[in-house]
Amino acid sequence: MAAGPNAKGLTMIEIPARCGKATRLGAGQCVRVINTFGQQVVDTWAFNAADIGEFMSMEHTRIAIERIIPQVGDALVTNRRRPILRLIDDTSGGIHDTLVAACDRWRYELLGCPTYHANCTDNLAAALGEMGVAPPETPAPLNLFMNIPVIDGNRIAVVPPISTPGSYVTLRAEMDCLVAFSACPQDMVPINGAAMTPTAAHFEVLG
Ligand SMILES: [Zn+2]
Repeated sequence: MAAGPNAKGLTMIEIPARCGKATRLGAGQCVRVINTFGQQVVDTWAFNAADIGEFMSMEHTRIAIERIIPQVGDALVTNRRRPILRLIDDTSGGIHDTLVAACDRWRYELLGCPTYHANCTDNLAAALGEMGVAPPETPAPLNLFMNIPVIDGNRIAVVPPISTPGSYVTLRAEMDCLVAFSACPQDMVPINGAAMTPTAAHFEVLG
């Protein structure tokens, strides 16, 4: 699936495997994030377009919604506790993660990778960099489609997504914002499926 207008006249943007991509959303606009091949985690960030120091925060969101996984209708809030995105549709089975930090070069070093490994932290910086913006830090992402079950109330597991090819989530901007995505390059644990082979994902901006 290449970038280009689809049957509805919307432009499908590819998030290439192991890479990041960002877009600008006006308040009220929606973005649909599609798990094209079904097993790909998509790390997602949002920053206030008027103040990059305000960004979607998982630790603030969990207490706002009193859940660890947002459900349809839930607002995702910033580090200033204001809604920035809202989950308005989800065909993926509803399993996402808010607990785990974005992967970074140090995560792969700890896993034993001897050379540089693509990672979501660098993908965020590159994606915003294409827009001339530098993130102030790497906030904990909303890890779309990532399956981190809590076991016995206090342990977590790292297991493949339950999402299916073509399933998606739709997020509505609650303020003007920059939204960034990373098709997670993790290929050393099965977070992107048992085959441990990262794939592309896609998004389209709805009206
Ligand atoms: Zn990652």
